This record gives sequence, structure tokens and C-alpha cells, in this order.
Amino acid sequence: MSVDTILLHACCAPCAEYPVADLLGQGIHPDLLYYNPNIHPRFEYDRRWEQVIRLGEIRNLSASRVEDFRMKDWLDHAWEEKYDSRCEMCYSIRMDYVASYARELGYSAFSTSLLVSPYQQHDKIAKIAEEAARRNNVEFAYYDWRPHFREGQAMAREDGLYRQKYCGCIFSLDDSEWKEKIIRDFPEGWEASR
Ligand code: SF4
Repeated sequence: MSVDTILLHACCAPCAEYPVADLLGQGIHPDLLYYNPNIHPRFEYDRRWEQVIRLGEIRNLSASRVEDFRMKDWLDHAWEEKYDSRCEMCYSIRMDYVASYARELGYSAFSTSLLVSPYQQHDKIAKIAEEAARRNNVEFAYYDWRPHFREGQAMAREDGLYRQKYCGCIFSLDDSEWKEKIIRDFPEGWEASR
């Protein structure tokens, strides 16, 4: 691929570690974009952004955030109107926005750190991102980074980045085996943030 700067959607800092290293190793400069309306509650949404800033500082990359916090959409089951599942809504909202942001800011290509996770629906993400890219006339840079997931997590540990124990939305928090401990660590009043 003939790009040397790419917009990299960072779903979180630990997942972005390996993609960043891989892109830099190929001579491709990633600008980080934090656009994750799926991360709840508010405290966690801000905390994961702070870690993306830290990763940007460590690797000397620019990191931007576009504010969009949508816990209410998840609680209201907004996916039922248009999508097969909440995860399909989650991928679609993010990839649509990232593709349009890439177009508006003049990037020729974008990618996403979601492609590193063996816990995500990899093929669905790639398909949704390809479609979003086509609609926005930008390139989606596909990578299968999954074999390097553990490597990226180890890098995040070395860098002292916070590594969360649930995917992001309020339902995934509910499903997490560490739910009680996670909630104990949240600041008082976290449930009020929607
Ligand atoms: S489980 Fe993860 S991918 Fe699915 S909706 Fe929740 S945050 Fe998004």
C-alpha cells in the first residue's frame, strides 16, 4: 500500500500497541483517533482516552478524541432498530465515523486497532469497515494483527498502560467475570453518567 500516513482508530491503548509498532515498522505513520461511544461508564470512557494520550506521548504520535458518549443508546437497545446485534451497531457507528473523519481530514486510508483482538468479530469488523471506506471514498487498510495480540498486551504492560477487563459497553461490564472488582474501583456516583 502506498500510504505513509494513516488514521488509526484506537479502540483502546493496549490494543493499539501492536498495530502502532507494526505500522511504524513498515514506515507508515499512524495518527491516533479515539472515537468510542461504546465505552461506559463515563469514568471509563475518559480513563481509556487518557491511556491513548499516553501511548501517543510514548510513541511520539498525535492523538485526537472526538467526543461521543452513548451509554443511553446501549441501554435503550438502539441496535434493535437497525442492526442484528449491539456489536454490529458498535462496529458500524465507529467505522462509519472513522471513515468519514478520514475523508474530511484528507487521509487516504484508515485502519482500526480492533483488528488485533481475538475476542472481537474480526470478519464482521473488516466487512463493515470496507463498506464504510467505499461509501467515503477512502481506503481501509486491512491487517490481521490477531496473532500478535499477546505481544501487544505485553508491550502495554511494559509501558505501564491501564489494561481493562471488559470490552467497553455497559453490557460487557455486566458480563465480565471481574465485574465486582471493576465496579469497586469506579468513583462514587458512576451510575449517574449516561
Ligand atoms: S461487547 Fe464490545 S463490541 Fe460488543 S457492543 Fe459492547 S463494547 Fe461494542
